[in-house]
Amino acid sequence: MKLLFLGPPGAGKGTQAVRTAERLGIPHIATGNMLREAVAAGTELGLLAKEVMARGDLVSDDLVIAMLEDRIARPDAATGFILDGFPRTIAQGEALAERLGDEALDGAVYIGVEDDEIVRRISGRRTCPNQHVYHVDDNPPEVSGICDVDGEALVQRDDDAEHVVRNRLLVYREQTEPLVEFYSSRGLRIHPVNGLGDLDEIEAAIAATLDI
Ligand code: ADP
Ligand code: ADP
Repeated sequence: MKLLFLGPPGAGKGTQAVRTAERLGIPHIATGNMLREAVAAGTELGLLAKEVMARGDLVSDDLVIAMLEDRIARPDAATGFILDGFPRTIAQGEALAERLGDEALDGAVYIGVEDDEIVRRISGRRTCPNQHVYHVDDNPPEVSGICDVDGEALVQRDDDAEHVVRNRLLVYREQTEPLVEFYSSRGLRIHPVNGLGDLDEIEAAIAATLDI
């Protein structure tokens, strides 16, 4: 299965995409995670992306498309994948369609959450260096400030500061939300899911609408 997870920053795409990818036994491919790893490793891509990400703007299409194409060419993605955070522009959507050719996408899960809740969620988001995600109130780790999976210290992402989040929401509305129309006009099945509520219930709603 080849699926996209669409929705505003902080909607819970990553949290749910990990769970759906585990159910299906396919990789969860999150361009934000890949870019943060590049920044942490100090690669050429990371150096180019760092400032742009800190402002909450989008990294250039050329760089992100090349990174994504390399990733989906790896053997583990041959039978399917979940894309989280890509595409984020129409140009990225077009590049993906061209790359996949006849192997069409199977659907897109759209997680909807309104802006005030997004800001609340992102303010409480904590992540570990290996990209495991928590929320201080709604999805806390067993030991405060420590990742359950690998014992690393949790931190707040630089771009999760409130003024950056407001910019990310504007960028989302202008550049990413038009992809919903782009895909529905091309006949891709979009599965709308209410992003408010218990994490397990949302996981079950996604599984039900995807029939998996
Ligand atoms: P969110 O948690 O808001 O969904 P991500 O982790 O997906 O955030 O992305 C963090 C940042 O990485 C974005 O604000 C942007 O700067 C950059 N980024 C991630 N994916 C893309 C993409 N497909 N195109 C351009 N920039 C991207
Ligand atoms: P995205 O990938 O869309 O940016 P995340 O999966 O990182 O979103 O979730 C954003 C924040 O909200 C995280 O701190 C996460 O733990 C929390 N979160 C995710 N789903 C829910 C939910 N259903 N209710 C409350 N908080 C949630």
